[in-house]
Amino acid sequence: MTVWRDVIGQDSAVATLQRAVTDPTSMTHAWLLTGPPGSGRSVAARAFAAALECPLDGCGECRECRTSVDGTHADVDVIATEGLSIKVEQARELAAMSALRPSVGPWRVIIVEDADRLTERAADALLKAIEEPVPRTVWILCAPSLEDVVITIRSRSRHVRLRTPPAEAVAELLHRRDGVEMPMAMYAARAAQSHVGLARRLAWDEGARIRRRDVISLAGRIHGVGDAIGAAADLASIADEESTAAAAERDTAERQRLMEVLGADPSARTQPPHIRSQLSGLEKEQKARATRHSRDVLDRSLVDLLSVYRDALILHSGAALGLVNQDSLPIVQGVARSMSAEQLLQAMDAIGTARERIGLNVAPLLALEAMAISLRVPR
Ligand SMILES: [Zn+2]
Repeated sequence: MTVWRDVIGQDSAVATLQRAVTDPTSMTHAWLLTGPPGSGRSVAARAFAAALECPLDGCGECRECRTSVDGTHADVDVIATEGLSIKVEQARELAAMSALRPSVGPWRVIIVEDADRLTERAADALLKAIEEPVPRTVWILCAPSLEDVVITIRSRSRHVRLRTPPAEAVAELLHRRDGVEMPMAMYAARAAQSHVGLARRLAWDEGARIRRRDVISLAGRIHGVGDAIGAAADLASIADEESTAAAAERDTAERQRLMEVLGADPSARTQPPHIRSQLSGLEKEQKARATRHSRDVLDRSLVDLLSVYRDALILHSGAALGLVNQDSLPIVQGVARSMSAEQLLQAMDAIGTARERIGLNVAPLLALEAMAISLRVPR
């Protein structure tokens, strides 16, 4: 069943989902797919939807399959939130939609890509719909881990776990699907620690490669307090740069589109009140998205930084295989030389703590400075 071809390294999850497609006794109306970021939760959810809609149980070729995967199938709704949370109003809309019968296919499929962003109240609004589903509706909820999902939702869904795919499988996917040359694909898959989307970015975007290198090269260069403060500022600005680059074009395009829809005159110095309020609503949304994105980028940078210390620890243990930063061996070796195994573990702890604190909304620069100070090594 080739609709699963881009769901890589997930044999057991695919087997479970495919069984549900072909065997009614294995089917249930609410699924929870969990897996680390970049493991392909949303790709798996769409493939599952396609297999459910396809008359051949997921051929991967037909119109049903193609439209399910690209999100245009009439009976497949994909909800992805750009903001920090899914609000109760949106959840109510979803619940109402889930009561509708499918219009063309055998199933109405509702994919919630960020079920971990359901607020408590939003989850409550969905609960009844998930608990007492109409016969032909299937919910596919995605989240990084079970713990990230409100317990009431979690307890009513069947759990399927995705794992981090092997780097080789990610490289092979980049090569086959995106035409990336194999050596670059392998570098990108390793450096992204098998996060498929990031690997793709690294493979195509030289700026992203440079920014990553800037981050990991900080590892060996923090000696005094001044270096630490500088490194923290560098990390924050690299993340800012990355998220600004991603947002600017899109924000402008969205604003233009909204102006068109509203029939506003883009050259007017001031806009009438009803247009102004629409535009400020959009700006608020864009700001929430930017906050989320820059937090994600920063977290990613910290994962990159962490990988250097982890690699150095692997060198200490004598194994030289499976390094994330194989392409930057001198940096890793330098760190391994200047730090003991214990110091490396402490450094990894400090980075973990910073990630947690930023996740809890501590001002990023503060968390980064505290972290960088404990990453100092004697010259
Ligand atoms: Zn098909």
